[in-house]
Amino acid sequence: MPAISFEFFPPKTDEQRAQLDRAAQQLKTRGPEYASVTFGAGGSTLSYTGETVARLHREHGMEVAPHLSCMGGTRAEIAELLAGYRAAGYRRIVALRGDLPSGMASPGDFRYAAELVRFIREHSGEHFHIEVAAYPETHPQAEDALADLRHFQAKVEAGANGAITQYFFNPDAYFRFVDDARALGVTVPIVPGIMPIGNFSQLKRFSDMCGAEIPRWIAKRMQAHGDDAESIRQLSAEVVAGLCRRLLDGGAPGLHFYTLNRARPTLAVLDLLH
Ligand code: FAD
Repeated sequence: MPAISFEFFPPKTDEQRAQLDRAAQQLKTRGPEYASVTFGAGGSTLSYTGETVARLHREHGMEVAPHLSCMGGTRAEIAELLAGYRAAGYRRIVALRGDLPSGMASPGDFRYAAELVRFIREHSGEHFHIEVAAYPETHPQAEDALADLRHFQAKVEAGANGAITQYFFNPDAYFRFVDDARALGVTVPIVPGIMPIGNFSQLKRFSDMCGAEIPRWIAKRMQAHGDDAESIRQLSAEVVAGLCRRLLDGGAPGLHFYTLNRARPTLAVLDLLH
């Protein structure tokens, strides 16, 4: 089995907390390298990331990687978060720019993820293993694909140890991105981010927002199964497991699963990968 990691989001209600616990309980049996927890994603200004990583670390015994974005505030506020994570014994950070929540005027002291990575290195030296985001299908706000690749290169040169990609369903986009990054001299591991398909209409909405393309053949095959939930679940797992197999056969260094705090869609994919 390749190195795998799982991404969760911070629950906000007791019901969501119980859901996270159930998912973590089942997923940790698959021996993940670490579990990461998003930061303020989805436009919320309040962050429960610290509480959630502590729960996964203490109660589920997982190595954790809190996400941290430029929306985390000023240098002083981010320094405080870093000091807390260091004191808790965490060794990983996923460093991002984040997206400005609607109605929020100032994003903080850093404009781009590269600046945040540089600050983490200045503040904490080599203590943290830093991952950054990569976009095989190009970040939606980038001027063009080459500019985006150069901005990715800048994040690595600022001190990132590795990258996790936005999810995608076209393996060639990933291979092309990795080849282009290598041609620029970027040598860090680039781990594909995998989105197990749990709910197809939700996935379509998400994908429009983050610029991930759903190939026509996948959409058409989903439609063909209509409302038959069980056959859609099976098809989803087969499609995503097929993608994972191609990625691993082509040299991907591991797989990072966007679990959305549910174990079942990710486990269905992992079961097919054995
Ligand atoms: P950057 O690398 O800073 O890039 C942002 C944009 O600016 C790109 O278009 C880039 O080309 C451009 N750019 C970069 N540098 C420059 C420059 N110097 N001049 C001009 N243009 C530049 N969001 C959250 O809010 N919380 C999370 O926890 C979270 N986790 C994520 C995890 C992963 C693995 C991924 C792939 C994404 C995650 N996101 C999260 C989403 C992410 O915050 C958004 O995609 C955001 O819009 C970009 O973040 P970034 O770190 O890639 O930004």
